[in-house]
Amino acid sequence: MLRSRIFTSVLISALALMLIVSGVLGGIPSVALGSDAPTPTQPATPEGNGGKATWTVSKMNFTSNYPTGFTFDIEAESTGGKITSATAFFRHSPETSRVRAIGKANEAGNGATAVVERIQVPQWVQVEYWWILTDEAGNSFETARAFAEYEDNTRKWGRLESEDIIVFWEEGVPDEIGQMTVDAMKQMRDTFKRRWANPLGYVPRAIIYASYDTWEEWSPRVGTVASSGGVSTRIAGRTDDTWAGTAQMYFWEYGPEETAYNTVTHEVGHLYQYANGGATGDFWFFEGNATFFEVTGQDRMLRRVRQMAADGTLPSLQAGGPSARGAFARDAYDIGFAFWVWLEETYGPDAHRLVWVLVDQGRGWKNALETVTNLSFIDMETAFRTWLGAANPVAPSPVPSPTLFFFPSPTYEPTRTPKP
Ligand SMILES: [Zn+2]
Repeated sequence: MLRSRIFTSVLISALALMLIVSGVLGGIPSVALGSDAPTPTQPATPEGNGGKATWTVSKMNFTSNYPTGFTFDIEAESTGGKITSATAFFRHSPETSRVRAIGKANEAGNGATAVVERIQVPQWVQVEYWWILTDEAGNSFETARAFAEYEDNTRKWGRLESEDIIVFWEEGVPDEIGQMTVDAMKQMRDTFKRRWANPLGYVPRAIIYASYDTWEEWSPRVGTVASSGGVSTRIAGRTDDTWAGTAQMYFWEYGPEETAYNTVTHEVGHLYQYANGGATGDFWFFEGNATFFEVTGQDRMLRRVRQMAADGTLPSLQAGGPSARGAFARDAYDIGFAFWVWLEETYGPDAHRLVWVLVDQGRGWKNALETVTNLSFIDMETAFRTWLGAANPVAPSPVPSPTLFFFPSPTYEPTRTPKP
């Protein structure tokens, strides 16, 4: 059976970030993206923080109002007088910009509240937050950072944490998925370390849903079935480094092993891409790369690609490469996966890391591959096809075509109805 699980990745362009932030905008007194560099946790000098006043923070609270957002509260005093302005800052990943939420100081001048509404992030993301307060004498003070979770207390969840992953699963998903996910990520720990120059900088989170209804609470219409070319598809997951994790539907027909050993590790592969230059290039390049981090099913994928090579039906990598749509949706994943196997078998265990170091340096993905293989892109493809045992190993000459740009946007899979 053609396994047609398909994954999503994420928009991490500046535009997407703006959209995410504008999603946060509505309904709050004022929220804006902090464009300046994150402020240090500790002030450089005592005089540099707090001005001429002495500040006392007695309480900093975070309250999750999932699914509508969250509330920050602070109780603090300044010897310089009443607190007249207060701004809360937060972010869900240490790798992303802070978001600003203008607070409202209380009448007594010894506290403030900031409410964030309509935020489109999954339950259980981390919330790192802090405040900048100003008193009536004009002294400003930045608090220390605090950490919380965007809790979903509206239903039951399982939770398991390791040094590699924090996994949450909605009631209805088999509980084994927690330990399996921890085990899968532990099994891949050294592989991730060896293949990527830049670490993630955070422990990724995997949020596994039993129902699209739950997922749609923060991501409207994500469960909508789309039809194209006679194939019905549906988004199966979403991965985003602005909230440092992946949200995935659980599918009963595949069982918990599939989610733990293939889906989560694949999606963490995308998070590493974002930390190492981005999910760039043709679809087969970055999806095949993420597939390279799946734990099971690799022999089957390789056999399928070798079969295509042997019977002369292997699509070319030129001009956008293999299809990622409809009945051929697996092609880009399987062939892209086989490409990375070839690269590492031919050029050694460092080849993967070297390609992404060059991508991270802005060299462009094709240039990175040409540099590491010391071949032109077309000769490289011929070498790959020869390795696969292709009946027609010579890569076709590239046809001049308009520049194809594949957004690493959500991709789809044939419709399945999760078991109720
Ligand atoms: Zn993917």
